[in-house]
Amino acid sequence: MRYGILSDIHGNLEALQAVLTACQKNMIEQFLHAGDIVGYGANPKECLEIVRKLGIPTVAGNHDWAVSGQLDPMFFNPMAKEAVYWTQKQLSAEEIDFLSHLELVYRNDDLILTHGTLSEPQRFHYMKYFSQADETFDLMDRDLCFIGHTHSPQIIMKQSGKSLPSETLNIQIKEGCQYIINAGSVGQPRDGEPMAAYCLYDTELRSIEIKRVVYDIKLAQKKILDAGLPASLAYRLSVGH
Ligand code: ZN
Repeated sequence: MRYGILSDIHGNLEALQAVLTACQKNMIEQFLHAGDIVGYGANPKECLEIVRKLGIPTVAGNHDWAVSGQLDPMFFNPMAKEAVYWTQKQLSAEEIDFLSHLELVYRNDDLILTHGTLSEPQRFHYMKYFSQADETFDLMDRDLCFIGHTHSPQIIMKQSGKSLPSETLNIQIKEGCQYIINAGSVGQPRDGEPMAAYCLYDTELRSIEIKRVVYDIKLAQKKILDAGLPASLAYRLSVGH
């Protein structure tokens, strides 16, 4: 099975389409989404429509929950908050209801999927410290847990009881090890690399790789500005931050 794990689409239609095209070329058989379909970008409705049409299993992100009233955006920064209110106006009651019912954790035989961390997934912690990685490792009943939320791709492995970051974003799964894989962000990368990110997991080859895809950033930026969303949300796309 070849999985395409996407995360943090954030209403960026150009990035999503480019990633889906790349996935098609890479013979992806099953998509998954680690949360935040909406928020920030100018095409939340269209992105939601694509995710639902393709039947992509998706977990709840903090923006999905804020837009659907499941989470108070009180602690969001002003630009994120503005995007939440703008997004609410673009979606139908049915679409908002769909977002409000997203689960926090998804599991199948191969993997676990959540937005932030497995400990208190409803609080959307950022996986910043190894203590948080350890807490998530302790809760894993599979070898692999895919996450998003920070918008920076990362692979952390646990070997002989020790957590350590992988030096590369293209790994071979080792027997007896567990992994937390941050798939990066499709629609708003923040690792200094503006290209859209997704993760390819091949269960037969036992390989995991973070891929980057060129997309029409200028068009996504123009749409954000035309929609009257904060200009900084457009600007950050070209710097990947
Ligand atoms: Zn996000």
